[in-house]
Amino acid sequence: MERIYNFSAGPAVLPEEVLREAADEMLNYRSTGMSVMEMSHRSKAYEVIINEAEEDLRELLNIPKNYRVLFLQGGASQQFAMIPMNLMKNKVADYIITGQWAKKAYQEADIYGKGNAIASSADKTFSYIPDCSDLPISEDADYVYICENNTIYGTKFKTLPNTKGKYLVSDMSSCILSEPVDVSKYGVIFAGVQKNIGPAGVVIVIIREDLITEDTLAGTPTMLKYKIHNDSKSLYNTPPAYGIYVCGKVFKWIKNIGGLEAMKERNEKKAGILYNFLDQSKLFKGTVEKDSRSLMNVPFITGNDEIDAKFIKEAKENGFENLKGHRSVGGMRASIYNAMPVEGVEKLVEFMKKFEEANR
Ligand SMILES: *Cc1c(COP(=O)(O)O)cnc(C)c1O
Repeated sequence: MERIYNFSAGPAVLPEEVLREAADEMLNYRSTGMSVMEMSHRSKAYEVIINEAEEDLRELLNIPKNYRVLFLQGGASQQFAMIPMNLMKNKVADYIITGQWAKKAYQEADIYGKGNAIASSADKTFSYIPDCSDLPISEDADYVYICENNTIYGTKFKTLPNTKGKYLVSDMSSCILSEPVDVSKYGVIFAGVQKNIGPAGVVIVIIREDLITEDTLAGTPTMLKYKIHNDSKSLYNTPPAYGIYVCGKVFKWIKNIGGLEAMKERNEKKAGILYNFLDQSKLFKGTVEKDSRSLMNVPFITGNDEIDAKFIKEAKENGFENLKGHRSVGGMRASIYNAMPVEGVEKLVEFMKKFEEANR
């Protein structure tokens, strides 16, 4: 059976080379006589897998020595709780609300302390990133929180907020490894891997060493303490072992392509093809303000629900899957993560042109 072009927002497309390699190693991983799925997470072979994954990620993102890398479970959503439980020492934190994921994180923080919504783009259905150069940062805030790329609405922070000395916590679930990042500008970066890295079940946390302390909210479960996972190098309990193995392969795939500079160039090329088409189309239009556009998630509409539905149906029949927009916003969304080949976007635009001619 032919593979299709999968524009899913997550779980999402993975590099074909990685899938093939994993398939080749499925029954017998490098002469161990077993699959990585069947392997003890305390074995020598697995130790190499998890250590190499961390080393490669460190190399790709140029992660400074004073930051730790944790491979955890519970998805990005569990971080919405882990962050306040571990980091809200003053029980106050500032949140910038740029969409549903940021809002969920903010609501979760408010369970454990006081979450302050210091900026929002809800007034225009989250179609832009607010100006964050001079926000009313709370004096006693422990951190400032952002969702850096808004998967549902297709917006991305192009400049980081001025946090006035507070450290920044960033949800990078849908943009991690899409371009170079200066990790030293953050206190915590986290990402569920199922958007831009690997199979669902792994969440990566990159956290500044000094923020990992014993001092957590009273009653914090052992499994939700950064310190526990850090002290045992992500092996406190059984980690999502197979998922981490696939992530490791994706890190090597990105390194082979030329690292994050090359990835960025490729992503800009892909997004450019789609945005340029949308900007001149007489039928389709993008929904995001130009200076807030995401490189990864591109929402668009025709302005007519029936034509949208027809487009999604015909696209599917032609091998372009998962173009339906998020259930909360409707329309279409093409997620064009790292693993989406340039050719996939070119072919999609060709198809959109044909559809436009037939439906104007
Ligand atoms: C998908 C997504 C989440 C939720 O991830 P889970 O792993 O399903 O909890 C959170 N934040 C962003 C930005 C996302 O794209």
